[in-house]
Amino acid sequence: MAAKIIDGVALSQTVRAAWRARARALEARGVRPVLAVVLTGEHPASRVYVRNKTNAAHELGLRSTVIELPESASEHELIDRVAALNGDPAVHGILLQLPLPKHLAARGVLEAIAPEKDVDGLHPYNLGLLTAGHPRFAPCTPAGIMQMLAAEGIDPWAKRAVIVGASTIVGKPMALLLLQQGATVTLCNSKTRDLGACTREAEILVAAVGKANLITADMVRPGAAVFDVGINRLPDGKLCGDVAFAAVREVAGWITPVPGGVGPMTVTMLLVNTIRAAEHALAHRDTERV
Ligand code: NAP
Repeated sequence: MAAKIIDGVALSQTVRAAWRARARALEARGVRPVLAVVLTGEHPASRVYVRNKTNAAHELGLRSTVIELPESASEHELIDRVAALNGDPAVHGILLQLPLPKHLAARGVLEAIAPEKDVDGLHPYNLGLLTAGHPRFAPCTPAGIMQMLAAEGIDPWAKRAVIVGASTIVGKPMALLLLQQGATVTLCNSKTRDLGACTREAEILVAAVGKANLITADMVRPGAAVFDVGINRLPDGKLCGDVAFAAVREVAGWITPVPGGVGPMTVTMLLVNTIRAAEHALAHRDTERV
């Protein structure tokens, strides 16, 4: 039987509807959550992603602001902009849109974001909390996949989970979140020998590499839940993931499509984190007044 397709657009709508109520509750107390996005340079895909995020924020009743910096901006300039956003009490969440132009390193700028406004969950302090097992803002893509697992009633406890791709933004935090929920986790990278032998063990398989058709049907355990994070553009202009969708669908138990799978949930978790940051800021304000 073909795998069940996990519809990330539909699940996003459900999750966003639940969080819309929390955004309204904040508004009733005079706080409208604000997401600030720092966009540097002319990366065309980044512009599309930023537009998607700000449109989704507005639909949920959040406000957003995009700070645009030229391709030639220095790390200093970015850090100054981030510092200004840190000090602005009207801003609750700060997102540094990646990738940065080649001459800039993201690390210093990410470290400049106030951890309580780091809604992308990439500040070392928030990554440290995640590693310690007390996540505050988990990075949005893995957090979205955890929501998808929960929505499908797939409990990671004692399951074999394999993640292909070990970036700080997806693979590593994904491993930590699954580990925290009791999975036995294998994290693969470009040096992994016999990738298929690893992936065939997976009851939960996450592909986050950026290579079309890397995961073929013979690499998938029958009945596995397969989450495709990859975004690749084919020569004909169409988007696809890292998983050979049509063939893997015949083997897996669940599968996410590209587009319409993990991507919308990533945006949703960014909005959720922004609302949580605003709730936290309000609670902090109330405590200070007491
Ligand atoms: P990245 O930083 O380039 O990391 C890629 C990872 O894949 C690295 O750990 C690399 O290994 C590993 N890798 C490369 N070739 C491999 C191979 N043949 N076998 C096993 N592992 C291999 O990428 P990223 O930022 O995590 O993004 C990965 C993909 O997800 C991209 O297509 C990106 O566009 C997409 N993405 C989608 C979303 C979404 O919301 N849907 C969000 C973020 C990213 P080494 O560590 O050894 O180099």
